[in-house]
Amino acid sequence: MSEKDGLRTYRDKRHFDRTSEPSGELSARDEAASTDDEPVFVVQIHDASTMHFDFRLEVDGVLKSWSVPKGPSTDPHDKRLAIPTEDHPLEYRDFEGVIPEDEYGGGTVIVWDRGTYRPTSHDRRDRPVPFAKALEKGHATFELHGEKLRGQYALTRFHGHEEKSRGSAAKPTWLLVRTGQHPGGGTPDPRRARSARSGRTLRQVAEAPEGDAPEGDARGGERK
Ligand code: MN
Repeated sequence: MSEKDGLRTYRDKRHFDRTSEPSGELSARDEAASTDDEPVFVVQIHDASTMHFDFRLEVDGVLKSWSVPKGPSTDPHDKRLAIPTEDHPLEYRDFEGVIPEDEYGGGTVIVWDRGTYRPTSHDRRDRPVPFAKALEKGHATFELHGEKLRGQYALTRFHGHEEKSRGSAAKPTWLLVRTGQHPGGGTPDPRRARSARSGRTLRQVAEAPEGDAPEGDARGGERK
């Protein structure tokens, strides 16, 4: 699996005539031109069959994604399981709304946090390592500049013993850990948490999914 798996898996899983999620047809070039030099990140809360947080980092024109069941913690003592999911298009960072029940990932999504990040991985000689390469090697460090999450975090790949014994079918699992010095408030209650984009809770978005989706509406007519 190359990092240029691109968005094929993402598109294969979805019916864009039924879900309001972005298809990712906007070119990465147009998107990149509209953002600052620093890559972006987003954390979405997704009230699907199981409540979870989706942690996404911009890498090479897509959002590398992990499902984090308990959500990122600001407490360095918390090691949070992070399960890789398919790359998402950059536009997904703005997605907030309701995915229809019968569709992939059916449920309500809010943008819990967003901002930029600075890769901070270095090799043994203290030279900066490109972020994509750090991920490939299974350990990447970065500093988040979000509205809620700020400071140093690390993503580290590991394989559980049980998974190893099952051979190549086993999926790698990662840990997301706050590595900075200043413990914060832990993890939010996903049902009370508010969107960094609209200020709304999951429930408010679920009750009025069309209430605040200007970009989705604007792009709706452009679909082929
Ligand atoms: Mn999800």
